[in-house]
Amino acid sequence: MKKKHLFWLLLPSYWGLTAVAIAAVAFYAFHSMSDLYFKTLENDIHTRALLLADHVEPLASSKDHPAIDELCKKLGKAANTRFTIILPEGKVIGDSDQDPSVMEYHDDRPEVRQALGGNMGIDRRYSRTLKQEMMYVAVPLKGDHFETLCAVRAALPMTAIRAELNSMSVRILGAAILTGLLAMVVCIIVVRRITVPLRGMSRAARYFAEGEFNHRVPAQQTLELNELAETLNTMSAQLNKTLTSLGEQRNEQQAVLSSMDEGVLAIDRKERIIHMNRVAGNILGVDHKGVKRELVQQRIRYANLQEFIKAVLGAQKSVSMDLTLSGEAEKQIQAHGTVLRNAEEESIGALIVLRDVTQLRHLETVRSDFVANVSHELKTPITSIQGFVETLLSDDWNHDPNALHFLEIIHQQSGRLNAIIDDLLTLSRLEQQEGHVLKEPCNLEHMLSNSIDLCQLQATKKNIDIRMDCPVNLILDINAPLLEQAVVNLFINAIKYSEPDKTVRVHVENRPAGQVAISVEDEGFGIENKHLDRLFERFYRVDTARSRKLGGTGLGLSIVKHIAQVHNGTVTVESKLGKGSTFTLVFIGASSESLNVP
Ligand code: ADP
Repeated sequence: MKKKHLFWLLLPSYWGLTAVAIAAVAFYAFHSMSDLYFKTLENDIHTRALLLADHVEPLASSKDHPAIDELCKKLGKAANTRFTIILPEGKVIGDSDQDPSVMEYHDDRPEVRQALGGNMGIDRRYSRTLKQEMMYVAVPLKGDHFETLCAVRAALPMTAIRAELNSMSVRILGAAILTGLLAMVVCIIVVRRITVPLRGMSRAARYFAEGEFNHRVPAQQTLELNELAETLNTMSAQLNKTLTSLGEQRNEQQAVLSSMDEGVLAIDRKERIIHMNRVAGNILGVDHKGVKRELVQQRIRYANLQEFIKAVLGAQKSVSMDLTLSGEAEKQIQAHGTVLRNAEEESIGALIVLRDVTQLRHLETVRSDFVANVSHELKTPITSIQGFVETLLSDDWNHDPNALHFLEIIHQQSGRLNAIIDDLLTLSRLEQQEGHVLKEPCNLEHMLSNSIDLCQLQATKKNIDIRMDCPVNLILDINAPLLEQAVVNLFINAIKYSEPDKTVRVHVENRPAGQVAISVEDEGFGIENKHLDRLFERFYRVDTARSRKLGGTGLGLSIVKHIAQVHNGTVTVESKLGKGSTFTLVFIGASSESLNVP
């Protein structure tokens, strides 16, 4: 619907209302005036009729009709009034203007009929006798016995009143038109007084909407409009304050996001980019400024990252993944995604943090290669040193007890060195294998029995009992040699760090979502809480001297952690000093067969 100006909406109604009021007043004034005129004329004629009746009464009693007619003519002329005397049967016996003998019976005239009935009669009509509009008033004339002798009628022409009324109506109409015109002008002024300030305020509101908050609505004359103007000004000031603070907040956030070393990518539920910081743009090779509201598929050409974003949007918790972005220069990326939520905790998209770890991975590879190379290089000389020392110890080369003692030490230390090199090589292999480890269905109970067999000698030496609790025929997709090595490392530690005559328990548990947990529990020395976080780091030992004495390399648990990782699993530890420790390996290894195992 087409919108009208308030001015054109108010003005016609104001005008209409004023016109109706003026018309009503004019109509009422005209009618009151004409009523007054007629009433005055009526009273005047009534008085004349009564006066005539007084004069006619004696003549009527004596039935002197010619005298009555003469009286009518005489007084009618003197008073400029038409007088008529009518007998009860309607016969006219006197008339100021006509000869009564030629006049028709008047008993049918309304005023005469009323007067002959005993009341005063009034009528206005056109007189055919006088050929003009007349007002008639007739009064009864009573005899001594209250019988109606005749009706005395007086009449005056209404021409003068009609002329007066006509001129009055012209004057009233003129006054009404003048008042109407004046009222129209006043209406325009009044309506403008409402609409002009409102238009000013709507203009100001438009300025505010366009962000020009310095504009002010001037003070208004009326209380209500002034209040509205003040409210608008306050609202603008508040808006300005809020927008400034929002702008500052946004700038701060932008500054934080753009100075971050990580790439940040915010995506909405429809996979449109909400925000991309500079680093993310650099990592992904796109201009971070021109990507807002664009679809991920249009701007990010890496299929694996697109899939990762889809996975985060579908997930309820954080997801992390290492990704390789292949292009001109291959990039290694660590991607971490979390669900973006609004104030009502509803998911509105995903937040992806990208870390370019290409350099880091390169350094890790260099370090890992270096360790592998050094270990390889050391392995051969150490093996030959060990061989020669063993030869020297076994043959009768030297019988000097001191020399034998030293040879024993060299043998022992080279053995340790060999063990360290073996562990380092194992770790290097695990690092290189990460993600490419071959897994095959394997009976876990058999694998654990093999592991126990491998440690049995050490256990027997300390009279330690190893007990196993594992579901029979549990078939898992695992790399059996590696997992066996991990379990052996845990058994060896459990035996090493326990007093003799204790028990080591291995317990296997099927958990939901195809997870399997292998726990190795001992009754050994236990570990203080403060060490637990760092226990799986390379060469980290709780008691270095004791570990060395017991032949430890400081790499056993690190190897366990890597083996858990290559199985997409974790290893955790719970321990109480003096009570014992429990190491738990958790990984997804359930094959379809194993899920049927009770
Ligand atoms: P190490 O070759 O010294 O045993 P590990 O990496 O296997 O090296 O273990 C790291 C350290 O954790 C050990 O030096 C030892 O102090 C502690 N530790 C490992 N397993 C146990 C255990 N079952 N009970 C007590 N302490 C343990």
